[in-house]
Amino acid sequence: MTENSSGLSPFATGLRGRCPRCGEGHLFKGYLNLAKRCESCGLDFGFADSGDGPAVLIMFPVGTIIVALWLITDALWHWPALVHLMVWLPMTVILSMLFLRPFKGALVNLQYKAGAKPGGEPGERID
Ligand SMILES: [Zn+2]
Repeated sequence: MTENSSGLSPFATGLRGRCPRCGEGHLFKGYLNLAKRCESCGLDFGFADSGDGPAVLIMFPVGTIIVALWLITDALWHWPALVHLMVWLPMTVILSMLFLRPFKGALVNLQYKAGAKPGGEPGERID
């Protein structure tokens, strides 16, 4: 068993915001900031850099859900445009905030599983 093959599902641990190696320690310090290391097993989370990945991944499902609901409610009840904006803009923010943390946790866990390492300077070779 290699260091990155803990046997834990990166989705199960990531969606719960847990450490990819032990599945017990908290991955986050605050809402979206990663902790420096796992308080349970001591894994250094310096390898993790999910960048814009979680935001990009949630844009598509959240956008699809919101637009579908917008179209359905407009077809059924013919809401004025201002009502649509008052309902769907906050709903977009709420859904995005609900999905962002679990998606970031899953991506960081997948990075661990894939053996990701901290990035270097542009053009620098990382072995
Ligand atoms: Zn841990």
